[in-house]
Amino acid sequence: MGKSYQADVAIAGAGLAGIVTAYELLERGRKVLLIDKDKRERFGGLAKESFGGVHFIGTPHQKRLGIKDSPELAYRDWQSYACFGENDHWPRAWAKFYCEHSLEYIFHFLQAKKIQFLPLVNWPERGLFRPGNSVPRWHIAWGTGEEIIRRFIDALEAHPQRQNLELLFEHEVNGIETAGGRVAGVVGTELASGMEFKVMGEVVIASGGISGGDLSKVRANWYGEWEGPPQIMLNGAHRYGDGLLHDKVAALGGNLTHLDKQWHYAAGVHHPARRKADDGLSLVPPRSALWMNALGKRIGPHPLISYADTRWLVENIVRQPGGYSWQVLNWKIAARELAVSGSDYMTAFTTKSKPLLLKHLLFGNNELVERLLRECPEDFVAADSLPELVEKMNERSLFDLRVDLSTMERDISEYDATIDRGPAFFNDDQLRRIANNRSYRGDRIRTCKFQKILDARARPLIAIREFILSRKSLGGIQTDLRCRVLNRDGVPIDGLYAVGEAAGFGGGGIHGLRSLEGTFLGSCVLTGRIAANTIAGT
Ligand SMILES: Cc1cc2nc3c(=O)[nH]c(=O)nc-3n(C[C@H](O)[C@H](O)[C@H](O)COP(=O)(O)OP(=O)(O)OC[C@H]3O[C@@H](n4cnc5c(N)ncnc54)[C@H](O)[C@@H]3O)c2cc1C
Repeated sequence: MGKSYQADVAIAGAGLAGIVTAYELLERGRKVLLIDKDKRERFGGLAKESFGGVHFIGTPHQKRLGIKDSPELAYRDWQSYACFGENDHWPRAWAKFYCEHSLEYIFHFLQAKKIQFLPLVNWPERGLFRPGNSVPRWHIAWGTGEEIIRRFIDALEAHPQRQNLELLFEHEVNGIETAGGRVAGVVGTELASGMEFKVMGEVVIASGGISGGDLSKVRANWYGEWEGPPQIMLNGAHRYGDGLLHDKVAALGGNLTHLDKQWHYAAGVHHPARRKADDGLSLVPPRSALWMNALGKRIGPHPLISYADTRWLVENIVRQPGGYSWQVLNWKIAARELAVSGSDYMTAFTTKSKPLLLKHLLFGNNELVERLLRECPEDFVAADSLPELVEKMNERSLFDLRVDLSTMERDISEYDATIDRGPAFFNDDQLRRIANNRSYRGDRIRTCKFQKILDARARPLIAIREFILSRKSLGGIQTDLRCRVLNRDGVPIDGLYAVGEAAGFGGGGIHGLRSLEGTFLGSCVLTGRIAANTIAGT
């Protein structure tokens, strides 16, 4: 055995949940060891790459926009979306707690760290066949997730109790130690030397979800009621999101629940940086694009509609031939509506440039479209005519599936003809949704006004080949409302806690089947704060 450390608390995982737990423990005078397998430059985990959208209820931002929200309404929406089962006591309790305390535990806490939110609140996940968000609740952190993490790292580094914090990077935690019938610490391996290390103290599991790694846990836990997982799936989660510590908790008797509930996205493209195997970039799919299958047929009978119910999109695409899809659009739509989920490509947000943001809102984000076409030629194609576009699409077709020009031409022309008949006669659910989206200011600025696809003035035509992208684990280690890990009899395991995505963001599945969005970052903060309170007895 190599190095041995003594702390009050060992936290395995330095993503947002681990960082918040560490910060709150320092505030309470505890000695903390924060351990991460990743390199120091990736301190902050997935939140650092995130767009920084957070779900709040009852903020001044909402009030300024005339949005009437309440914890009761939010909890009703949450339950509608989650479809909790009869036995989901802890997920339900966590969801209720989130809705009732998002201001006090998350919003004010982040504001106190000087994290600001943009004035326009976004409105994803309104629901399609069941109610989702009744009102806009997705607040974008100015500076994205990068800023959230930067502020917290600064707060840790400048903390008056900084001497009580030790940071270990490139250290893998791979075992949980017990003594006298309780959890007593962790063991692991220092990656550079291969030496083992040991930390004695109470243990917080903050190692994220199971949606990353080599995706084997995603495939093994695929939702039973769906078609099997698609042959090609992209990894939009953490390289170390392999569930190693979930397994260790289970071996100690800890209860893992809802692992088959996963939050994937429908519009993944290959990440040009290829930072890990199957690395994916998640697009915010343009609402005015037509969603076609691998044969060039518009997916239906109900057209696929972005921004309404992400789970429904994924469920439909995995049923399509080849398990992948195409979005067909033109430059005008792309410039106005295309976005990337994450801090990476959204430069106006990440660099906090108001003039650039204004320019993108007024004239479209042409730079982003140019960049994606240039950097992702595997999945993005552009052409001046439909036959040329289809030819390029077919150069990228998979599994011997071919896009059929006449099918695609027919479906696009029918859609364009509906637009020509005028809004009073929109007998198309996508157009009806677009009309509805445009009635909210926050969406109107990012949604074209009934844009025809084949419009000669809006060219070139663009097609994007999109894959299912694995992102978040909705299930995980079951915890009670104090973040104590529960065993399979529902009894807390002494000395063991779980936070963030590792805990299914609270209770082993706070979201049930679906998320209202922005609830991931929010519940990392919530669980981190509560775990620290429990450990410190405050
Ligand atoms: C591109 C992108 C955009 C997103 N946008 C949003 C958004 O706008 N809003 C929102 O709410 N959510 C968003 N999310 C999701 C959100 O960022 C994550 O769900 C959340 O940050 C998870 O935090 P975490 O601390 O629980 O886990 P992670 O961030 O996964 O951190 C876990 C840490 O544990 C470490 N680790 C893993 N195993 C071990 C081990 N055995 N030993 C030691 N260390 C280990 C990892 O290296 C990692 O640093 C986004 C995610 C991505 C990738």
